[in-house]
Amino acid sequence: MPNIIHLLPDHVANQIAAGEVVQRPASAVKELIENSVDAGATEIQLIVVDSGKTLIQVIDNGSGMPAEDLEKSFERHATSKISSADDLFSIRTKGFRGEALASIAAVAQVEVLSRPEEEDHGMCLKIEGSQITSREPAPAPVGTNFQVKNLFYNIPARRNFLKSNAVEFKHIIDEFEHVALAHPNIHFTLLHNGSEIMNLPEAVLRQRISGIFGKKYNERLVPVEEHTDVVSVSGFIIKPEFAKKTRGDQFFFVNDRFIKNGYLHHAVSAAFEGLVSHGVHPGYFLFLTLDPQRIDVNIHPTKTEVKFEDEKVIYAMLRSAIKHSLGQFNISPSLDFDSEIQLSVPPLTKGQNINPPIIEVDPNFNPFAEDSQKAPKTYSGYQPPAAPPSAGSTYEWTQLSTQAEEEAPVEKNPEVCIQLNKNYILSPLKSGMAIIHQQRAHERILYEDYLNKLEGGTAASQQMLFPIQMILSPADAPILLEQIDILRGMGFDIEPFGHNGVVIQGIPLNMKDSEIESSLEQLIEDAKNFRSEFSLAPQDWMAKNFARSGAIKSGVALEKEEMLHLIHQLFACSMPMMGIDAKPTLIHIEGDELSKRFA
Ligand code: ADP
Ligand code: MG
Repeated sequence: MPNIIHLLPDHVANQIAAGEVVQRPASAVKELIENSVDAGATEIQLIVVDSGKTLIQVIDNGSGMPAEDLEKSFERHATSKISSADDLFSIRTKGFRGEALASIAAVAQVEVLSRPEEEDHGMCLKIEGSQITSREPAPAPVGTNFQVKNLFYNIPARRNFLKSNAVEFKHIIDEFEHVALAHPNIHFTLLHNGSEIMNLPEAVLRQRISGIFGKKYNERLVPVEEHTDVVSVSGFIIKPEFAKKTRGDQFFFVNDRFIKNGYLHHAVSAAFEGLVSHGVHPGYFLFLTLDPQRIDVNIHPTKTEVKFEDEKVIYAMLRSAIKHSLGQFNISPSLDFDSEIQLSVPPLTKGQNINPPIIEVDPNFNPFAEDSQKAPKTYSGYQPPAAPPSAGSTYEWTQLSTQAEEEAPVEKNPEVCIQLNKNYILSPLKSGMAIIHQQRAHERILYEDYLNKLEGGTAASQQMLFPIQMILSPADAPILLEQIDILRGMGFDIEPFGHNGVVIQGIPLNMKDSEIESSLEQLIEDAKNFRSEFSLAPQDWMAKNFARSGAIKSGVALEKEEMLHLIHQLFACSMPMMGIDAKPTLIHIEGDELSKRFA
């Protein structure tokens, strides 16, 4: 039998290995700026074009590399950061695997110009698909200027696999933020397609956070500081009232390296328990410092996962440190940390009034008016006030009945209804009665309303007295802007504003001012995570989302007119019986059933 095993040529091996390190432009960004940090730079400039697909450039004023090192740095396992296996346990630098540059050079066209302080000129190296194509001396400031062009130019399949520019840019921003947060003492700038997205001068952590996420963050931050023999924790948590529906303000750093860790996240959430409501995520910027010997960062090539030797100790310490801060800054309702705290709203202060929830309904709405007669089964939006129902109305709640059409089970114009448990509406039918789930019914109504508007492009909008400005993080802004046409179709009067903002001057008729920000945050969150529901049918998703947030909730007391209005609207829907989550909106108890029960 002939020998069939042979070694892969270097360039193939490099491409395969590159797959682990460089998945997308953001991976190269991370590696390059981390190298600049490791090189002791105090200024790091990131320049990207087309979300990094065309160009990623990192310019630093760090140590630079002598000509010989510069060439070596592109060899696999070439690193200046460790020299023995023992060193793996005392890592203080970002890099140590010596793989990043070799990987990047295998899948892009690279041009690097570097000069160490000892030299009076730099060296410029060009590499394509792992092959050096040119090397020549060139004038340069001290430091390194690294350009990665046309990433994956030689692996079309990988290039085609990249996501939209907005998505790829969001990943870049994430990586940039992680490093910028971990190193507030370094001046970072970020330029995208020629415009400056961020400029973060040297600062302390608090300023750095505001620099990235906006000035309003300053007043939201509560410091955390705790030291033990095993681990120190410092940083900030975000006051519970500013916790968001969107994930994104959760940052853990271990020895200044950004990491993801569900277990530690749980520790923070546990400390916030009772202070934030369900579905809302506490925000934090927490820095753990511990002996590098007690962690293993080598378990994943991108090093965002870390194994801790003393996981349980760290969990307990973190939780108590945060409870301590919440208590110290008077945010926690009690200093007795072990008692069961079950508050989802901050305690009332003396003299503060409780405002009853406001439900906006149109008491004059009449489903028997002209429009609904034309199309009785299709909800056609909020109707202007109309004349009282005429006696000869042909409107019938036939959906309730499996019987013959002419035998509508309900009063033609129900006048009687009562609310049960602030949750259900009871209304007599011609035969039996209907029990309507108020929240689900209203969700169904709003959902169909939004969908009709989107399909018909006829959304009415209410102008706002005070336009809302939303300043988003640079990562979230493009995601929201991608959906702007759909939002306009639903009745939003929304425009891009400044670098990363939108200004909203009008909103759909059914929406309340107070719902807008949280609804849009939810939208960003779901779009970001590509929940399949969202990517398959963004319009349907949005109609559902806005219906959910705008609907009358369970637990809200309703006036009779409001209930009647709701009933009418529900039965003008095309699918009145089914809630938007596929659960029933109403139960019909037939007269027969009642008589059976009384038998
Ligand atoms: P690692 O960071 O794991 O050592 P890399 O492939 O990222 O591996 O880099 C290889 C080597 O190149 C580094 O160890 C470092 O000595 C050198 N290097 C890379 N980037 C820079 C830079 N911006 N400034 C100075 N030296 C650098
Ligand atoms: Mg590196």
